[in-house]
Amino acid sequence: MNLTMDVIKPFDPWKSPLCTCPEKYSLNPYTGCSHCCIYCYSTYIPNFYRLRIKKNLLSRVEKDLSKLPKHALISMSNSSDPYPPLEKKLGLTRKVLELIKEHDMDLMIVTKSDIVTRDIGLIGEMNAAVSISITTLDKELAAKLEPGAPEPTKRIEALRRLHSEKIPVVLRLDPIIPGKSEGEIEKIIEECSFVSHVVSSTLKLRFDSLRRMLNTFPELEHYHKLYKKGEKIQNSFYLPLDLRKQLLENVREVCERYGIGYAFCREGIDFKAKSCDGSHLIR
Ligand code: SF4
Repeated sequence: MNLTMDVIKPFDPWKSPLCTCPEKYSLNPYTGCSHCCIYCYSTYIPNFYRLRIKKNLLSRVEKDLSKLPKHALISMSNSSDPYPPLEKKLGLTRKVLELIKEHDMDLMIVTKSDIVTRDIGLIGEMNAAVSISITTLDKELAAKLEPGAPEPTKRIEALRRLHSEKIPVVLRLDPIIPGKSEGEIEKIIEECSFVSHVVSSTLKLRFDSLRRMLNTFPELEHYHKLYKKGEKIQNSFYLPLDLRKQLLENVREVCERYGIGYAFCREGIDFKAKSCDGSHLIR
């Protein structure tokens, strides 16, 4: 569909040949992200770790929504987090949710924050699912990887609360970080075995995220050699395919054991679920 949109844009991750997402639209209520994950893929956006507010956000969202057909799928957010700490004070994402509900759209919320539970009542009245990212259960490791984001136990608790309110929930086990979190795959899925879907992905690097990873973890110096053995797909360096297959096979095996649907994000490796992002769970 060729629409002139302003803040809601067709989701098209750098035209990746490996993207298996259904047709959907991307909406970032905030620009930048104060969760400051060192592996973040969105740091091509200038001053990315400085959270900014979009001018006239609500009227712009409303205008874009009026151009979309009912039940168009909106993914919020892909290049930021819709629930930074500032959201508690500003409630911008909540106001955006109200607009999306008014316009009868389908919604996939993607976050690392337990602030999403503030909106449980509203989300429960929408055609919506919530995907929460967890990379590690180790509080200290998480504080180094994702210094501005809530600790992992809070995220699991948020998933649990959403699930108990019958909101479809997805575990985003992403990224799996070789040499750091790969040994936690089973434990993370086990802790979240009540979710309906797991989407997982291995760590992809760009020059700037590699630099941040090595500044924080000098012991990962071997990444230079490891990623050289892998492939470069568009702007990202991928791990060697046999290692990606091995890590994701582990995800598949544990998910099958727990009877959870699973998929992989931009890996070029087959999965059985009806959608990669879990949007098939939206009522
Ligand atoms: S929460 Fe997402 S968008 Fe924000 S810094 Fe982390 S990876 Fe980037």
